[in-house]
Amino acid sequence: MDELELLVDLHRGAARQGPGGEAETKLALDLARVDRSRPLRIVDIGCGTGASTLLLAKELNAEITAVDFLQEFLDELRSRAHEQGVLDKIATVNCSMDALPFAEGEFDVIWSEGAIYNMGFEAGVSAWRRFLKPGGKLVVSEITWLTAARPPEIQAHWEREYPEVDVASAKLESLERHGYSPGAFFVLPRHCWTEAYYHPLLSRFEGFLDRHGQSEAARRIVAAEKDEIALYERYGAYYSYGVYVSGKVGE
Ligand code: SAH
Repeated sequence: MDELELLVDLHRGAARQGPGGEAETKLALDLARVDRSRPLRIVDIGCGTGASTLLLAKELNAEITAVDFLQEFLDELRSRAHEQGVLDKIATVNCSMDALPFAEGEFDVIWSEGAIYNMGFEAGVSAWRRFLKPGGKLVVSEITWLTAARPPEIQAHWEREYPEVDVASAKLESLERHGYSPGAFFVLPRHCWTEAYYHPLLSRFEGFLDRHGQSEAARRIVAAEKDEIALYERYGAYYSYGVYVSGKVGE
């Protein structure tokens, strides 16, 4: 198994592939003030195994297109949707978020949790705008600095991992520049990282290593995940995901 296959194997059994929470997804949905009086068309980009997709399907009268480029995650999402009785509201599409096969103005809402960094926030919000109806809503979470300055170690880490990391004011400015009107912003609280994401991940390490005969490659992956968790333990006061709720303005 190569590294990507190992990562998929580690993460596919999880309810989520990044920090988040049901209460926070619901909060973002409330803040987006979507028109619930008619059926909605929603796309969830970088959906993983469907943490937000499944919740949106349960909450809304909506047709949801769930997009990811890993078929294993989409298969898992479908099986969860079936178990939870919402498969009829969800279509899965395997494609890359930077080459979406949708028509102009197709969606009332674009949703994306913990995924847009894969193509970059600016590139993502600017490329996806055309798929929104006029006045449509964009709800996107993005790694965000929580303070104006931070310790050099964590600064260097995120600049290496994701050069676009920035403070919320810069992300809001970027949304404005790309034809959105920011309506709300909040920060994912600590438990979205720990109880919701890192703790379940930690509990899967042993089984994962055993499945792969304690191979060098599997141990490298676990070590990298543990480093990420340790960084969060030390520096979690300085970064989180910001959740940005905006409306499309103009044509
Ligand atoms: N939204 C989910 C998953 C977040 S992890 C959650 O909150 O749990 C990021 C997801 O983006 C993964 O499922 C990964 O497979 C997907 N992804 C990464 N790069 C992608 C790309 N270029 N196109 C589509 N999906 C991508």
